[in-house]
Amino acid sequence: MADRAETILEVRNLHTHFHTESGVVRALEGVDFTLNRGQVLGVVGESGCGKSVTAQCIMNMVPSRGRIVDGSVIYHQRNGQGTEAIEITALPPKSREMRRIRGNEIAMIFQEPMTSLDPLYTVGNQLLEAINLHQDVDRTEARTLAIHSLDRVQLPEPERVFASYPHQLSGGQRQRVMIAIALSCNPTLLIADEPTTALDVTTQAQILSLMRDLQDETHMSIIFITHDLGVVAEMCDEVAVMYLGKVVEQTDIDTTFYSPRHPYTQALLRSIPRLDDDQDRRLEVIAGSVPDPSSIPSGCRFHPRCPEFLTGVCEQREPVLVQVDEGHQVRCHLYDETASSQPGTQP
Ligand code: SF4
Repeated sequence: MADRAETILEVRNLHTHFHTESGVVRALEGVDFTLNRGQVLGVVGESGCGKSVTAQCIMNMVPSRGRIVDGSVIYHQRNGQGTEAIEITALPPKSREMRRIRGNEIAMIFQEPMTSLDPLYTVGNQLLEAINLHQDVDRTEARTLAIHSLDRVQLPEPERVFASYPHQLSGGQRQRVMIAIALSCNPTLLIADEPTTALDVTTQAQILSLMRDLQDETHMSIIFITHDLGVVAEMCDEVAVMYLGKVVEQTDIDTTFYSPRHPYTQALLRSIPRLDDDQDRRLEVIAGSVPDPSSIPSGCRFHPRCPEFLTGVCEQREPVLVQVDEGHQVRCHLYDETASSQPGTQP
């Protein structure tokens, strides 16, 4: 069993902005979370909340119009003597050190494998490229490792898949190939960005089951980015809920589902069906929609949609993350005693 108390990744006060023709888009405005070794962290939220940009920052692969303007990502790498803290966000994205970390230490799988796999090259060529980039092996060993990687993700006839082009495979097989490429160099941290969203439910269940088995086998840490709370319930130990570029709640999986504190997390949970639901219960929708990141509301960013809005406080003051229990942090004035006791506050 992995040591769950040892930190592998720290994301601290991360701010990432994009410069567009219509102005500055503040995609991340102070993202904080911690991931422990061997843990599976779900990062959830609606589209546009900054989940994928957070993943790009961890990989130090922010698109050209974007820039990390503040904060840091620290990766704790194990070596012979213990662990070494590497500030990923301080490394040049194309440096030798960053290329070594990407792939050898941290790997990523994406939502749509067809846009990540090159249609002009066979699966085998693409796997060999990843292996040769990160491992010092000869051609025969590289081929053996590649076939083994395909076998490990339970692809039948791995030699045939090795010689196939991506268009000759089904969506589920392509996603298995992406997982094989990501795991071919045995990373200690895997970032999975909506890896099952483009798949039908049966294939989705098979891919989730495969990822769970691989996590049990390797004890790697996983950041699972998704908007699907069902996937979170199935896969994760810990959950960070994001809203408009900030983490608004982080805690363990049971607390997230049974005792969530943030009104946004509560609203997300009320909007999904449950097996024990009363048949007559109508699913609730969260009022309004996620505002454009170029025009962020004042005070608490969730206040225009929040059913618990505190007049005179929530629209004026931005809440900070407060610890409400051990291992449970919430960004909401309801739990910040200094804010909710302000004169003029009306629940
Ligand atoms: Fe709602 Fe206020 Fe809490 Fe924001 S700070 S989530 S508006 S109660």
